[in-house]
Amino acid sequence: ATMPPLLSAIANAGRHGVLVKSAVAMERLGEIDTAALDKTGTLTEGAPEVTDVRPLPGSGLDADALLTLAAAAEHPSEHPLARAIVTAARTRGLPLPTADDFTATPGQGVTATVAGHVVTVGRAARPASDAATVVEVTRDGTPVGTLALTDRLRPDAAATTADLTALTGTAPTLLTGDNARTAALVAEATGITDVRAGLLPEDKVNAVRDLERSGRKVLFVGDGVNDAPALAAAHSGVAMGRAGSDLALETADAVVVRDELTAVPAVVRLSRTARRLVV
Ligand code: ADP
Ligand code: MG
Repeated sequence: ATMPPLLSAIANAGRHGVLVKSAVAMERLGEIDTAALDKTGTLTEGAPEVTDVRPLPGSGLDADALLTLAAAAEHPSEHPLARAIVTAARTRGLPLPTADDFTATPGQGVTATVAGHVVTVGRAARPASDAATVVEVTRDGTPVGTLALTDRLRPDAAATTADLTALTGTAPTLLTGDNARTAALVAEATGITDVRAGLLPEDKVNAVRDLERSGRKVLFVGDGVNDAPALAAAHSGVAMGRAGSDLALETADAVVVRDELTAVPAVVRLSRTARRLVV
């Protein structure tokens, strides 16, 4: 028997390194007319590095002590920022005390008890002064310092946004939990003009729902736990697989297994071709 077009398209998507979970998911990819993208781990590589460690004067901590506190609290987290902070501490040879009572709040940060102190690492209250993502560390409710982290743009980020613009007729929207300044720099480098920053996971869902209420069929591409609700709400949700969280991979309609963002517009094209062949 000849393979039905949508099944052939799934096989072809596999050759592009994209796992499409069903024929329905394959079909919906070709129906999208709007794209929305997460920043960290989607347009950027999601492998940030700690570039600045800044204890607050009066905190009684030096840079190593601040990094140790933050890394101990972040140790159980799978977030890219957490992994970067733990790596920075290891690179400096800092031994990490174990953390108890760890909790992570998607899109916000983490809390844990370290050596009898309640430590949080998360969104900085004040906006960043440069391109870096800045996180604030508190100990027993008092701010003790900040860490700055920078992430590289994916080499194929601008080509992908250009291709999605060609496919949908509109530049993609950027939806990120990070600060407005970092988001603006990534948007500028990728030809995006519609930028929504400082979003909580539910704000990403609302942004997708707003677009869909105005009659759009939205493709949302993300990677984090914080992206899972928006991946579920979108007409078509695609997760970046390499560093993606389990929840994002489970929720998405398709997973980019080989780490190439250009595969996303490629599978939209495969779907459109297949749908023309379905009678
Ligand atoms: P994005 O939408 O860009 O992928 P997230 O929603 O995961 O980003 O995170 C948004 C912001 O919340 C981060 O920029 C950071 O300030 C804070 N944050 C989230 N998780 C953590 C964490 N594990 N440690 C420190 N800060 C975090
Ligand atoms: Mg992300």
